[in-house]
Amino acid sequence: MARLPNDTARIVIQRWLELTGAETHPEWLWKGLRFQSHESPLTLIGAISNNQREKAVALVEPAVTHIMESMGTRTWQHALVSSFLLDAQDRFGPNSATPLSFLERMQRLFNGPQISLDPESVYVDWPVEPALAKSVRLPVENPAVRIGNESPTISVYGSSGERKLKLRTKATNEPSSISLAATTLRAQGSAVLDLLRVALPDQNLIVSNSMSSTSARLPHLKGEAMPRLERYRTRMIVRHYLMELSNRDLSDEDIRAVSAMRWISMANARWHESHSVATAMLWPALEILHSKCVWKHVRRCSCAPGTVLPIDAYISSLRDNLTREINSYLRSLWAKKNDRQVGRVVPPQWLRPTLLAIDEDPIEWLRKVAKAARGSVSEDPLLHYRIYELTTLGDRKLNDIRKRCELDISELYQARNSLFHEGVSDLREERARYLAALAVELLLLTLESRAQLS
Ligand SMILES: [Zn+2]
Repeated sequence: MARLPNDTARIVIQRWLELTGAETHPEWLWKGLRFQSHESPLTLIGAISNNQREKAVALVEPAVTHIMESMGTRTWQHALVSSFLLDAQDRFGPNSATPLSFLERMQRLFNGPQISLDPESVYVDWPVEPALAKSVRLPVENPAVRIGNESPTISVYGSSGERKLKLRTKATNEPSSISLAATTLRAQGSAVLDLLRVALPDQNLIVSNSMSSTSARLPHLKGEAMPRLERYRTRMIVRHYLMELSNRDLSDEDIRAVSAMRWISMANARWHESHSVATAMLWPALEILHSKCVWKHVRRCSCAPGTVLPIDAYISSLRDNLTREINSYLRSLWAKKNDRQVGRVVPPQWLRPTLLAIDEDPIEWLRKVAKAARGSVSEDPLLHYRIYELTTLGDRKLNDIRKRCELDISELYQARNSLFHEGVSDLREERARYLAALAVELLLLTLESRAQLS
């Protein structure tokens, strides 16, 4: 971060990584919506070189969208921003063979495929375990299994002896092409896998979380956990609730909560196979807890008077929850100071007295953090951005967020309908990831409030 041209570049990079990150809170995550933007990527570059912070920050999301739509996936973009754009390995420094300034690298990023154009073909493989005995007959002719009209490149291969299966697709030898092929392979390969499981029910077929490719440039494609589920807060809420349940007679609400957790578990188990199917499977968990009243009360619903809709719980606790995330971010910075293994990471001095106390008002605390951080050498522009967003989060803005969430939740419901009625869920991968993050947050809020009520 030290060699970036100015503070605006720093906040743009941090915001960019946050938008495309795996662990980002849904409110700050890239939501995968199509932007009707008249701003060209050049405007963002101009805003950075003129150090126009507000303008630049507003342009990052359209920039993410631009790159996402023209090439590649979120994971690829995230990796490219943190390696190529930041140039952590100093491959493009002034003394290197190919010196490129930060703004020149950004220009290259927007030009996309010119970063590297390699027409050589490579394969992306998703191995299926276990190997099949020779006597097992595949229900499909080797090598090609075709699902519908859209997947001409997915094939199931078997070698002559053991018959190891893998789902395979072709890509060009370029990271964006490979990660895009992996996304397609996941979406369509999971359908092939499901059919094989029905045709060969005694084989217990499984696929790994990660994929491999024959490219030396990106040999492993590591899978990611379902968003938000692995977080400390999530584990604590669920564990706390389960421990309470083991000490008492279960109420009807408790039984529903347990059933909802089972759906979360089933969705999580399928996540690495198909993001869109797993995301649609989160709806039943919401439905068990709230019937169909998630973003509005359905006609003649059986909710008790005064029942809080999950979306209202989400909106009314949004500021507190995001504040808590800032707090745990600061805590993690502080923890690193005490961790001698991470000797090179030095957290800012102002950090120590700024951790949120239990009975403290979050907004007062945010102001205190902003004041303490101001003028510090290690000032974190993204922290300031978040604090500004949170302290100015008035009713009008919350209302806008609520409207957007209504559309998001109804899209999740549509995905559930497609899966349950037609057997397919065709959410785009990045959209599925966002909706899963949102659904997990909604579920957590309910589980948390029930654990506290009891
Ligand atoms: Zn209702």
